[in-house]
Amino acid sequence: MTTKAMEFLRNHTLFRGVPQHELEGAVQSMHEELFHDGDPLIVEGSYGNSCYFIMSGQVQIVSRNLIGHTVTLDVLGEGALIGEVSLFLEEKRTSGAQAIGEVTALRLEQNAFSRLAAASPMFHESLSFSARIRTMHAMLSKATIWAAIPNAELRGLAEVTVRRKVYKGDVIVAEGAMADRFYMIAEGRFEVRSGRRKKAVYKPGDYFGEMDLLSGEAHTGTVTALENGELMVMGRDEFHFVLQQYEPVRRQFHEVLRIRRPELLNEEVSAKLQFTEAEQVPEAAVETAATLEAVIPAPPKKDRWMDVLLALGGIFVAFTGLAIWLKQPVWIYAALISGGFVGPVSFVAYMRSSQLLGFKPIRLAAVFAASGIIAVPVAWVLERFWSVGSGLETTTIEHVQASLLIGVIEEIAKLLVCFFFLRGRKQRFLMDAVVFGAAAGMGFAAVESILYGFMYLQQHATSGMLAVLWVRALLSPFGHGTWTAIAAAGLWYGLGRSAKRGSTADRLLRMAALLLISILLHAAWDYPYAAGLWKMVGMVMVGGIGIALLFSLIRQGTKEERAMHRAVNPAQQVEERLRQAVGSDSKRSGSEGPGTSPPSLTCEGCGTVSPAGTRYCGRCGQALQL
Ligand SMILES: [Zn+2]
Repeated sequence: MTTKAMEFLRNHTLFRGVPQHELEGAVQSMHEELFHDGDPLIVEGSYGNSCYFIMSGQVQIVSRNLIGHTVTLDVLGEGALIGEVSLFLEEKRTSGAQAIGEVTALRLEQNAFSRLAAASPMFHESLSFSARIRTMHAMLSKATIWAAIPNAELRGLAEVTVRRKVYKGDVIVAEGAMADRFYMIAEGRFEVRSGRRKKAVYKPGDYFGEMDLLSGEAHTGTVTALENGELMVMGRDEFHFVLQQYEPVRRQFHEVLRIRRPELLNEEVSAKLQFTEAEQVPEAAVETAATLEAVIPAPPKKDRWMDVLLALGGIFVAFTGLAIWLKQPVWIYAALISGGFVGPVSFVAYMRSSQLLGFKPIRLAAVFAASGIIAVPVAWVLERFWSVGSGLETTTIEHVQASLLIGVIEEIAKLLVCFFFLRGRKQRFLMDAVVFGAAAGMGFAAVESILYGFMYLQQHATSGMLAVLWVRALLSPFGHGTWTAIAAAGLWYGLGRSAKRGSTADRLLRMAALLLISILLHAAWDYPYAAGLWKMVGMVMVGGIGIALLFSLIRQGTKEERAMHRAVNPAQQVEERLRQAVGSDSKRSGSEGPGTSPPSLTCEGCGTVSPAGTRYCGRCGQALQL
């Protein structure tokens, strides 16, 4: 024990008035320790039996939130006491501490700590106060919506928030009663029931009661604890005060209310939640793609669809080679099947990768399959029924009529499949319609290609079949997938899903325009042009217009998704800035090594896959966790 350490303690404000012999007694069991950059002094989640006084250097207080991100709570320097909270409250460590550069610290064991706490009223008092606030602060920063609030102010919020233990079966809010408090879940699962229907299961990071506080109406569901847990509770006045103070929080509540209970979003409530609409502030809206990318890490898109394309393309090439070389039926059919799928599946994979808040691939596979299995036969029957495209047409008018009729029949058949998958309230983004439309169109295209190829095979023309497949595979991005994506976007407007809620006339007009364009493109593509040159010109134009329109829809849809994602995740932007300010956070926290990209998160409420680092699902507003 150095005299330097003794000197340090004697000069520390916490120990004023502590008798010399007590201090000396405590010092006997203290150790001076040296830490290097990144070394942990305290590990989150462990039960500690010691705390530290920082003698020199700086320490970063960090905590891992529910989605595995490291949040920096504080940076403390010389004189600070760390790790005392869990000694005092005899709880698990709610945060960790890591050295920034070289740090010397005095280690204080449980018994010495208790002795000092007993000997110094000052020490005891300051601990009991700071323990509560610090714990609350760590809890608030961890998982909740308040994480968008600056650190110092969050500490103030921690002072007015109360922890409440709850037990399995406890009814927190009863249906029809007023929730006059705002509840945030720190631990445990809670079920929301309306009447007999189970509405949702809330987990740590989720919150409730805000709708009652905002609308003044009674709670529409009963919230029951499914297991023992802990809530953080905030009073009505504090809640409204925070709303008034912080625009990101207002905006987040606004979006969540729009998701959960749009009918409550009347003028009065909207006024309470007023925020600057991004569209009204061009400067804010025109953020460059680069900053957006920094704020919301884009899903690893290019790799995935490229992988699909390369894998399927490789298989198709191999089977084509084998079919030509060996001329065995098994390879010919293998080439037929793989050739039918390569273009369509890659296209759908590409579309899905441009979506920020999409569903799991299995849903797209369902749309794809349903379209191939249902829409193709329906279209086939109808086309035979009206005997279009059978080669009986001779005049130009008849050709035009036939092409148009084919366009109408096939697009409607595919749209019926889309409608089935888009009819729920959860499919609320334009990108859902675009991606589902692409899947429906491509399921149709794949089956159609295989049927065409099969027809060639019936005429014993393997090379003809392979040629058709290759041409169709190469042209597939310009065909069914694009047309139906455009048509489905029209359907989406018609269903009234646009968050902007334009006038009915405006929506119907958009729907009509998009459906018409889709059918016209389809018809122009199918038109039997006389000369090869005209065919080229026609196809290039149809392809160009379709792709251009598709990309403009994707841009618009992505903007909508990003706006929603950002609105319900205001904390993420703050966090990202913190991350950049602190430097390579990941190096210090250790577990996020370079190269291992964190996994994307699937919402348990609605099945949306959100990019890594997201806290709240942009589709249903529920908290995400690893
Ligand atoms: Zn969700």
